[in-house]
Amino acid sequence: MYPKSLEKLIEDFQKLPGIGEKTAERLALHLITAQPKEDVLSFSKDLEEAYTSIKTCQICHMITDDTSCFVCKDTNREPIVMVVAEAKDVIVLEKMQTYRGYYHVLGNVIDFSRGITNEDLNIESLHQRLSQFEEMIIATNSTVEGELTARYLHSLFNETIKITRLAYGLPVGTDFKYADSQTLAKAVENRKGF
Ligand SMILES: [Zn+2]
Repeated sequence: MYPKSLEKLIEDFQKLPGIGEKTAERLALHLITAQPKEDVLSFSKDLEEAYTSIKTCQICHMITDDTSCFVCKDTNREPIVMVVAEAKDVIVLEKMQTYRGYYHVLGNVIDFSRGITNEDLNIESLHQRLSQFEEMIIATNSTVEGELTARYLHSLFNETIKITRLAYGLPVGTDFKYADSQTLAKAVENRKGF
């Protein structure tokens, strides 16, 4: 029904999270037919530029366009490290503007059903950083995989550093990115021992 190149673009959109066939069609058609040509070309250039320039911070594995991220560059933070699963968790926590420590992005959580083990997480680099901190807050989600990962980290490091967890006040299984910033700020403030 569509020209081949448009068909391919629709398929590309469908690979994005939360985009079904209908939405993919609408987005692709909108880009190609309803937008000025310059806008479409600059969109494609921006996408390529973002993809090629974004790296991960050599210290905490947060996304950045430099060798280290804006958090690691900030030397005025408290000597606390918050361990999260993904870079986007850092964004959520930074937006709430109450936590003033550092982060460490694991890159994933242990999930045997998807073949992800402790070896796939950024744990060795976390280990190397621990001497700079007085406390480690484990902020993986309260899902089965998040809990498993938290317990694994606890068993590895509980002799090395004081370990706390977020006090969620959220139903088990809730992803913390869906928590409002007040709930999240409370969860950090009222964090508890492991
Ligand atoms: Zn960093």
